[in-house]
Amino acid sequence: MGGRDATMVLLDENGIRCDGRKVDEPRRIMIKAGGLKNADGSAYIEFGDNKILVGVFGPRDVHPKHMSNTDTGILRVRYHMEPFSVGERKNPAPSRREIEISKVIKEALEPAVMLDKFPRTAVDVFIEVLQADGGTRCAALTAASVALADAGIPMRDMVAAIAAGKVADTVILDVNNEEDQAGQADMPIGYMPNLEKITLLQLDGVLTPEEYKKCVQVGVEGCKLVYDLQKKALQDKYFGNGAG
Ligand code: ADP
Repeated sequence: MGGRDATMVLLDENGIRCDGRKVDEPRRIMIKAGGLKNADGSAYIEFGDNKILVGVFGPRDVHPKHMSNTDTGILRVRYHMEPFSVGERKNPAPSRREIEISKVIKEALEPAVMLDKFPRTAVDVFIEVLQADGGTRCAALTAASVALADAGIPMRDMVAAIAAGKVADTVILDVNNEEDQAGQADMPIGYMPNLEKITLLQLDGVLTPEEYKKCVQVGVEGCKLVYDLQKKALQDKYFGNGAG
Protein backbone atom coordinates (compact mmCIF):
# COMPACT_ATOMS: atom_id res chain seq x y z
CA MET A 1 0.00 0.00 0.00
CA GLY A 2 2.43 2.64 -1.17
CA GLY A 3 1.49 6.03 -2.61
CA ARG A 4 -2.06 5.90 -3.89
CA ASP A 5 -2.55 7.03 -7.50
CA ALA A 6 -6.04 8.54 -7.62
CA THR A 7 -6.08 8.68 -11.44
CA MET A 8 -5.51 4.94 -11.99
CA VAL A 9 -8.63 2.90 -12.80
CA LEU A 10 -8.13 -0.31 -10.81
CA LEU A 11 -11.56 -1.73 -11.61
CA ASP A 12 -13.67 -0.57 -14.57
CA GLU A 13 -17.48 -0.53 -14.87
CA ASN A 14 -17.40 -4.10 -16.25
CA GLY A 15 -15.48 -5.41 -13.23
CA ILE A 16 -12.22 -5.72 -15.19
CA ARG A 17 -8.91 -4.92 -13.49
CA CYS A 18 -6.04 -2.74 -14.74
CA ASP A 19 -4.27 -5.74 -16.32
CA GLY A 20 -7.44 -7.16 -17.92
CA ARG A 21 -8.20 -9.79 -15.24
CA LYS A 22 -11.51 -10.52 -13.55
CA VAL A 23 -11.68 -10.01 -9.77
CA ASP A 24 -11.14 -13.71 -8.96
CA GLU A 25 -8.62 -14.42 -11.70
CA PRO A 26 -4.96 -15.12 -10.84
CA ARG A 27 -2.13 -14.07 -13.11
CA ARG A 28 -0.54 -16.68 -15.40
CA ILE A 29 1.47 -19.07 -13.21
CA MET A 30 4.22 -21.38 -14.48
CA ILE A 31 6.21 -23.57 -12.08
CA LYS A 32 9.17 -25.77 -13.01
CA ALA A 33 10.73 -28.22 -10.54
CA GLY A 34 14.50 -28.71 -10.77
CA GLY A 35 16.93 -26.93 -13.08
CA LEU A 36 19.95 -26.19 -10.85
CA LYS A 37 22.37 -29.10 -10.99
CA ASN A 38 24.52 -27.94 -8.04
CA ALA A 39 21.55 -27.65 -5.67
CA ASP A 40 19.93 -30.59 -3.86
CA GLY A 41 16.57 -29.28 -5.00
CA SER A 42 15.37 -26.29 -7.01
CA ALA A 43 12.41 -24.62 -8.63
CA TYR A 44 11.65 -21.73 -10.96
CA ILE A 45 8.39 -19.81 -10.93
CA GLU A 46 6.79 -17.19 -13.13
CA PHE A 47 3.84 -15.62 -11.37
CA GLY A 48 2.58 -12.91 -13.73
CA ASP A 49 5.69 -10.78 -14.29
CA ASN A 50 7.45 -12.11 -11.17
CA LYS A 51 10.37 -14.41 -12.04
CA ILE A 52 11.98 -16.26 -9.14
CA LEU A 53 14.57 -19.02 -8.80
CA VAL A 54 14.96 -21.11 -5.62
CA GLY A 55 17.83 -23.42 -4.67
CA VAL A 56 17.72 -25.79 -1.66
CA PHE A 57 20.85 -27.24 -0.02
CA GLY A 58 20.88 -29.89 2.67
CA PRO A 59 20.29 -31.37 5.11
CA ARG A 60 23.95 -30.48 5.79
CA ASP A 61 26.33 -29.64 8.64
CA VAL A 62 25.65 -26.40 10.46
CA HIS A 63 28.36 -23.73 10.56
CA PRO A 64 28.91 -22.26 13.07
CA LYS A 65 28.36 -25.50 15.02
CA HIS A 66 26.78 -23.81 18.07
CA MET A 67 23.79 -22.86 15.88
CA SER A 68 22.88 -26.51 15.44
CA ASN A 69 20.19 -28.18 17.54
CA THR A 70 20.67 -31.72 18.85
CA ASP A 71 16.89 -32.35 18.84
CA THR A 72 15.96 -31.04 15.42
CA GLY A 73 17.20 -29.71 12.11
CA ILE A 74 17.00 -26.01 11.33
CA LEU A 75 15.62 -24.23 8.30
CA ARG A 76 17.41 -21.13 6.99
CA VAL A 77 15.89 -18.94 4.31
CA ARG A 78 17.43 -16.07 2.37
CA TYR A 79 15.14 -13.98 0.14
CA HIS A 80 17.15 -11.72 -2.14
CA MET A 81 16.08 -9.31 -4.89
CA GLU A 82 18.52 -8.78 -7.75
CA PRO A 83 19.41 -5.10 -8.31
CA PHE A 84 17.86 -5.37 -11.81
CA SER A 85 14.62 -6.98 -10.58
CA VAL A 86 12.78 -3.66 -10.26
CA GLY A 87 12.59 -0.55 -12.49
CA GLU A 88 14.95 1.55 -10.40
CA ARG A 89 18.18 -0.27 -9.46
CA LYS A 90 17.85 -1.85 -6.02
CA ASN A 91 20.80 -1.61 -3.64
CA PRO A 92 22.31 -5.15 -3.54
CA ALA A 93 22.80 -5.00 0.26
CA PRO A 94 20.08 -6.87 2.22
CA SER A 95 17.28 -4.42 3.04
CA ARG A 96 15.00 -4.54 6.09
CA ARG A 97 12.25 -5.69 3.72
CA GLU A 98 14.33 -8.64 2.48
CA ILE A 99 15.23 -9.63 6.06
CA GLU A 100 11.54 -9.50 7.03
CA ILE A 101 10.43 -11.52 3.99
CA SER A 102 13.15 -14.14 4.64
CA LYS A 103 11.77 -14.52 8.16
CA VAL A 104 8.10 -14.78 7.18
CA ILE A 105 8.85 -17.33 4.44
CA LYS A 106 10.92 -19.42 6.88
CA GLU A 107 8.10 -19.35 9.44
CA ALA A 108 5.55 -20.19 6.75
CA LEU A 109 7.56 -23.25 5.64
CA GLU A 110 8.49 -24.60 9.08
CA PRO A 111 5.11 -26.24 9.87
CA ALA A 112 5.40 -28.22 6.60
CA VAL A 113 9.00 -29.43 6.91
CA MET A 114 9.74 -32.48 9.09
CA LEU A 115 12.95 -31.07 10.53
CA ASP A 116 12.88 -33.47 13.48
CA LYS A 117 14.07 -36.13 11.03
CA PHE A 118 17.42 -34.31 10.63
CA PRO A 119 18.78 -33.36 14.06
CA ARG A 120 22.00 -31.26 14.11
CA THR A 121 21.68 -30.32 10.43
CA ALA A 122 20.45 -27.34 8.41
CA VAL A 123 18.39 -27.02 5.27
CA ASP A 124 19.19 -23.80 3.39
CA VAL A 125 16.74 -22.17 1.01
CA PHE A 126 18.12 -19.47 -1.30
CA ILE A 127 15.54 -17.35 -3.11
CA GLU A 128 16.62 -15.11 -5.97
CA VAL A 129 14.03 -12.66 -7.29
CA LEU A 130 15.05 -11.97 -10.90
CA GLN A 131 12.03 -9.80 -11.71
CA ALA A 132 9.49 -8.38 -9.25
CA ASP A 133 5.95 -7.22 -9.91
CA GLY A 134 4.02 -7.45 -6.63
CA GLY A 135 3.43 -10.65 -4.69
CA THR A 136 7.01 -11.91 -4.66
CA ARG A 137 6.76 -13.36 -1.14
CA CYS A 138 3.84 -15.59 -2.19
CA ALA A 139 5.51 -16.64 -5.43
CA ALA A 140 8.78 -17.31 -3.58
CA LEU A 141 7.06 -19.33 -0.84
CA THR A 142 5.25 -21.41 -3.48
CA ALA A 143 8.50 -22.10 -5.36
CA ALA A 144 10.47 -22.78 -2.16
CA SER A 145 7.97 -25.48 -1.24
CA VAL A 146 8.45 -27.17 -4.63
CA ALA A 147 12.25 -26.87 -4.32
CA LEU A 148 12.16 -28.53 -0.86
CA ALA A 149 10.07 -31.39 -2.23
CA ASP A 150 12.47 -31.65 -5.19
CA ALA A 151 15.35 -31.95 -2.68
CA GLY A 152 13.57 -34.93 -1.13
CA ILE A 153 13.05 -33.20 2.21
CA PRO A 154 10.24 -35.05 4.06
CA MET A 155 7.22 -32.75 4.32
CA ARG A 156 3.84 -32.95 6.01
CA ASP A 157 2.28 -30.93 3.19
CA MET A 158 3.14 -28.36 0.52
CA VAL A 159 2.70 -24.66 1.22
CA ALA A 160 0.93 -22.83 -1.60
CA ALA A 161 0.63 -19.04 -1.50
CA ILE A 162 -1.18 -16.16 -3.19
CA ALA A 163 -2.44 -12.75 -2.06
CA ALA A 164 -6.02 -11.57 -1.78
CA GLY A 165 -6.72 -7.86 -1.53
CA LYS A 166 -9.09 -4.97 -2.05
CA VAL A 167 -9.34 -2.39 -4.82
CA ALA A 168 -12.27 -0.04 -5.46
CA ASP A 169 -14.01 -1.52 -2.39
CA THR A 170 -13.96 -4.97 -4.05
CA VAL A 171 -12.14 -8.11 -2.89
CA ILE A 172 -9.70 -9.41 -5.53
CA LEU A 173 -7.42 -12.42 -5.96
CA ASP A 174 -3.67 -12.08 -6.69
CA VAL A 175 -2.64 -8.46 -6.17
CA ASN A 176 -0.22 -7.08 -8.79
CA ASN A 177 2.24 -4.23 -8.26
CA GLU A 178 -0.13 -1.42 -9.41
CA GLU A 179 -2.92 -2.81 -7.24
CA ASP A 180 -0.51 -3.08 -4.31
CA GLN A 181 0.64 0.53 -4.75
CA ALA A 182 -2.73 2.15 -5.46
CA GLY A 183 -5.22 -0.30 -3.91
CA GLN A 184 -6.80 -0.48 -0.47
CA ALA A 185 -5.47 -3.75 0.96
CA ASP A 186 -3.00 -6.57 0.27
CA MET A 187 -3.27 -9.87 2.19
CA PRO A 188 -0.61 -12.50 1.35
CA ILE A 189 -1.74 -16.00 2.39
CA GLY A 190 0.26 -19.24 2.65
CA TYR A 191 -1.80 -22.42 3.06
CA MET A 192 -1.22 -26.15 3.51
CA PRO A 193 -4.02 -27.63 1.37
CA ASN A 194 -4.14 -31.15 2.83
CA LEU A 195 -3.79 -30.14 6.47
CA GLU A 196 -6.09 -27.14 5.82
CA LYS A 197 -3.84 -24.82 7.81
CA ILE A 198 -2.75 -21.25 7.12
CA THR A 199 0.99 -20.71 7.70
CA LEU A 200 1.32 -17.14 6.42
CA LEU A 201 -1.16 -14.34 6.78
CA GLN A 202 -0.21 -10.68 6.58
CA LEU A 203 -2.35 -7.63 5.99
CA ASP A 204 -1.33 -4.26 4.65
CA GLY A 205 -4.34 -1.92 4.48
CA VAL A 206 -7.75 -1.74 6.09
CA LEU A 207 -10.61 -4.25 5.78
CA THR A 208 -14.02 -4.58 7.42
CA PRO A 209 -14.58 -7.88 9.30
CA GLU A 210 -16.71 -9.11 6.35
CA GLU A 211 -14.05 -8.16 3.82
CA TYR A 212 -11.41 -9.85 5.98
CA LYS A 213 -13.37 -13.13 5.94
CA LYS A 214 -13.95 -12.85 2.18
CA CYS A 215 -10.23 -12.19 1.56
CA VAL A 216 -9.24 -15.28 3.57
CA GLN A 217 -11.82 -17.38 1.70
CA VAL A 218 -10.78 -16.08 -1.75
CA GLY A 219 -7.10 -16.44 -0.83
CA VAL A 220 -7.46 -20.03 0.37
CA GLU A 221 -9.31 -20.97 -2.84
CA GLY A 222 -6.49 -19.31 -4.79
CA CYS A 223 -3.91 -21.34 -2.84
CA LYS A 224 -5.69 -24.53 -3.91
CA LEU A 225 -5.25 -23.50 -7.57
CA VAL A 226 -1.56 -22.80 -6.90
CA TYR A 227 -1.22 -26.21 -5.19
CA ASP A 228 -2.47 -27.97 -8.34
CA LEU A 229 0.33 -26.27 -10.30
CA GLN A 230 2.94 -27.25 -7.66
CA LYS A 231 1.87 -30.88 -7.95
CA LYS A 232 1.94 -30.65 -11.75
CA ALA A 233 5.50 -29.24 -11.67
CA LEU A 234 6.71 -32.19 -9.56
CA GLN A 235 4.76 -34.72 -11.61
CA ASP A 236 6.21 -33.29 -14.85
CA LYS A 237 9.75 -33.69 -13.50
CA TYR A 238 9.41 -37.11 -11.87
CA PHE A 239 6.74 -38.85 -13.95
CA GLY A 240 6.48 -36.69 -17.07
CA ASN A 241 8.86 -36.08 -19.94
CA GLY A 242 11.87 -36.29 -17.64
CA ALA A 243 13.05 -32.72 -18.22
CA GLY A 244 14.98 -30.97 -15.42
P1 ADP B 1 5.64 -8.48 -2.27
O1 ADP B 1 6.59 -8.54 -3.43
O2 ADP B 1 5.62 -9.74 -1.50
O3 ADP B 1 4.27 -8.01 -2.68
P2 ADP B 1 5.96 -5.83 -1.10
O4 ADP B 1 4.52 -5.60 -0.87
O5 ADP B 1 6.94 -5.33 -0.07
O6 ADP B 1 6.25 -7.42 -1.24
O7 ADP B 1 6.42 -5.24 -2.48
C1 ADP B 1 5.54 -5.09 -3.55
C2 ADP B 1 6.30 -4.86 -4.82
O8 ADP B 1 6.99 -3.62 -4.75
C3 ADP B 1 7.40 -5.87 -5.13
O9 ADP B 1 6.90 -7.10 -5.64
C4 ADP B 1 8.19 -5.12 -6.15
O10 ADP B 1 7.57 -5.18 -7.44
C5 ADP B 1 8.11 -3.68 -5.62
N1 ADP B 1 9.32 -3.36 -4.86
C6 ADP B 1 9.74 -3.88 -3.70
N2 ADP B 1 10.93 -3.37 -3.32
C7 ADP B 1 11.26 -2.48 -4.27
C8 ADP B 1 12.37 -1.61 -4.47
N3 ADP B 1 13.40 -1.56 -3.61
N4 ADP B 1 12.36 -0.82 -5.57
C9 ADP B 1 11.35 -0.86 -6.45
N5 ADP B 1 10.28 -1.67 -6.32
C10 ADP B 1 10.23 -2.47 -5.25
